[in-house]
Parts: sequence; C-alpha cells; structure tokens
Amino acid sequence: MLSLSFETLKSLLKSPKNVVIVPHINPDGDAIGSSLGLYHYLIQKGHSATIVVPNDYPSFLKWLPGTKEVLNFEFDSFVVQNVFDNADLVFTLDFNALHRCGNLKSVLEASTAPKIMIDHHQHPEAYAAYTYSDTDMGSTAEMIYHFMAQLGDLELLNKDIGMALYTGIMTDTASFRFPKTTATTHRVVAHLIEVGITHSEIHSLVYDANRFERIQLVGIALSNLRVLKPFNAAYITLSQDELDACNYQKGDTEGLVNYGLSVIGVKLAAIFIENSADEIIKISLRSKGAIDVNQIAREHFNGGGHVNAAGGKSDLSLAATVDLFKALVVNLDSDLE
Ligand code: 5GP
Ligand code: MN
Repeated sequence: MLSLSFETLKSLLKSPKNVVIVPHINPDGDAIGSSLGLYHYLIQKGHSATIVVPNDYPSFLKWLPGTKEVLNFEFDSFVVQNVFDNADLVFTLDFNALHRCGNLKSVLEASTAPKIMIDHHQHPEAYAAYTYSDTDMGSTAEMIYHFMAQLGDLELLNKDIGMALYTGIMTDTASFRFPKTTATTHRVVAHLIEVGITHSEIHSLVYDANRFERIQLVGIALSNLRVLKPFNAAYITLSQDELDACNYQKGDTEGLVNYGLSVIGVKLAAIFIENSADEIIKISLRSKGAIDVNQIAREHFNGGGHVNAAGGKSDLSLAATVDLFKALVVNLDSDLE
C-alpha cells in the first residue's frame, strides 16, 4: 500500500488538488464539523474540495456554511463516483475502519487516490497512505485545527472554518464536559472565537432546535429509563412504535443515552433504539471511569468507539437485546465496583 510521509503530503498540498472528504455513516456533529472545517480550509488554500456523506445527517447541523454543497451517496451515487474518479486525495474523517462509511466502502476501496485518515477512535485500521490518529483527542474537529497548524496554515483560519470546527468540538466533548477536553482544546476554541465565531449562537442552533414532537420523544425515553441499581447501570429503550408516534427524524435520539449516566451512582448507560426498516436495534453505550464500552460494543454488539462512548447494533429483538445487556452487566459486576 502507498505510504506518504507528512512532508510529501505537505508538498502535495502546495499545488491545487481535487480533494474528496468522507465522514462516517450517520454523521454526527464532529463528523460534519470536521469535514466542513477541512473543506473550508482546503478551499482557502486553493484546492477544489467535495464532501461526500454515506447517508443523511441531522437537520440541526444543516445551518453550517457549506452544508448545501455536501453530496449524499444515497441520492447522488453517480455524481459521487465521478467525483472519486477525478480525486487526487481522499480524506476520511472521524472513523477508524472502512466499513464505518457504509456503502461508500467499496467506492473508497476501488479509488486509487491516496487516503488520509484523521481520527480519534481506538484501533485505527491501516488503510490510509497517511494516518493521523490520536485517541487522546476529544474530537476530530480539534485535530483538523492541529493539522492546519502542522501545515503552517493557521493564518488561513476564518469564521467558516471556525464555526464548523467549533460545532465538532462542542458536540463531541458534550459542551466541554468530557475528560478529553484539555487546556489545548480551550486554546483552540479561544482562537476560533478570535476569528469571529459566536459560540452562544452555535450552541443555540445545535441544541435549541427541537420540534415539539422531539421533546415528547425525550419524555417517552425518560419514562422508559430503568436503573439496575446493584450494578450501577442504566438503560433506555425506544420501540419503533414510540418513534413513529413522535414522527421520528434523524438526530432525535442524539444525546438521550446521557440521561442514564446522569443518575447518581450510574457508571454504565445504554440506549436501545428499534429500527424496523433495517431490522436492527441501534445501541449507544456510555460510561464513567474505567468501564470500557468500546470493548463491550466490539465483543457483544458488532460495534466500537471510545472507552467511554461507543455504539453498535443487535439483530435480536428489542427485549432480547435488553436481556443480553442485563446478562452482561451482571458479569461486569466486579468492574463496576
Ligand atoms: P453514538 O453512540 O453517539 O452513536 O456513537 C458513540 C461513538 O461510537 C462514536 O464515536 C461513534 O463513532 C462510535 N460508534 C457508534 N456506532 C458504531 C458502530 O456501529 N460501529 C463502530 N465501530 N463504532 C460506532
Ligand atoms: Mn468524533
């Protein structure tokens, strides 16, 4: 496989290139924020850039500058193939394994353009010509800032880049709450504020954009919350019927898993969301301290992620998936002390 040194990549980026940027499937704030941040940076630098998402992303991210230019592989597969055919470089952002970009995987595998991975998930696959992986980072968006700095391009930082990166950093650190929020993170954000972003407005655009039905869904999720007290664990379920009753839209369940973790004593929280169309249960796991939910997701739920935040899926019914989780939690007992 082709391998690029940082210096070679730097010199490649000195002349105009056709660049494709790909975030993971079901893109979240960090996937979209890091992609749009890199996009605006590359445009500033004189490149031609296109973001291709494997599938749609939540509407609370669609106010970001550049969002209308994003191509969705589910709707534009012909155009996307053409973009890849003309690509000189492909950046893959916020994921660590090619299967994480869904049906785009085969397009990426067939592409001869060198791939550059920028990501903060554990166990990165070795598919890229240049890999910038740092699991100590709270977000890929912060890594885009550091990537710009490494290339000596921080003077190109502008408000469009800043708004995108702030969105990624804010969402992946849960508004600067998670432990991977560092002094450096705050210095990066200070710089973003200096170039003109309005952080309170961004927070409001992302978090205060609820449909009434979404808040009703939050109510159902909270009434479904169960705490397994002896095991310091909690879980929420949402059935397809409950989602339908609230006219579920993409992004509506984002962050709900954290309510479980907010209960006193809880160190492991899960949410199980039924998806009848795909015949799966989508699972999000969160933990505090040493409980490794990345490992739980990998071993039992066909997924992965980080030590304290991971996701996966199950082919069992909603009830059977919850039973599996309960059985797991009992065995985790000693870890949860
Ligand atoms: P969330 O629970 O918010 O969907 O995801 C939490 C973390 O786990 C994110 O970093 C996400 O990229 C990762 N993740 C979520 N679902 C999956 C999955 O199905 N497979 C893998 N490998 N990672 C996932
Ligand atoms: Mn991320």
